[in-house]
Amino acid sequence: MNIFLTIFNFFYEIFFGCSHERLTRPFTLQEQTYKVCLDCGNQVYYSPITMRPLSAREVRRMKAVQASEVRVMAPVSSTPSMIQPNERKSNAA
Ligand SMILES: [Zn+2]
Repeated sequence: MNIFLTIFNFFYEIFFGCSHERLTRPFTLQEQTYKVCLDCGNQVYYSPITMRPLSAREVRRMKAVQASEVRVMAPVSSTPSMIQPNERKSNAA
């Protein structure tokens, strides 16, 4: 392969995302709608509302929302064990 074409594609994917055209149809998984590139496995996020590709900024916002949801969910899934009221301390006895 032409080295310049390789470099071009490298930067193209950085600035414009995946440059391949063999994409799956959009599907929704775990409340995310995206296509997957059959060549490189890159995920192209779509808005389930407009069915258009999300911009980089929208993807960041989406991931930030998900991260905040994880933080909210975390205390529920990993509730610290309650201090038992009748727990005796060795130095109190
Ligand atoms: Zn690709």
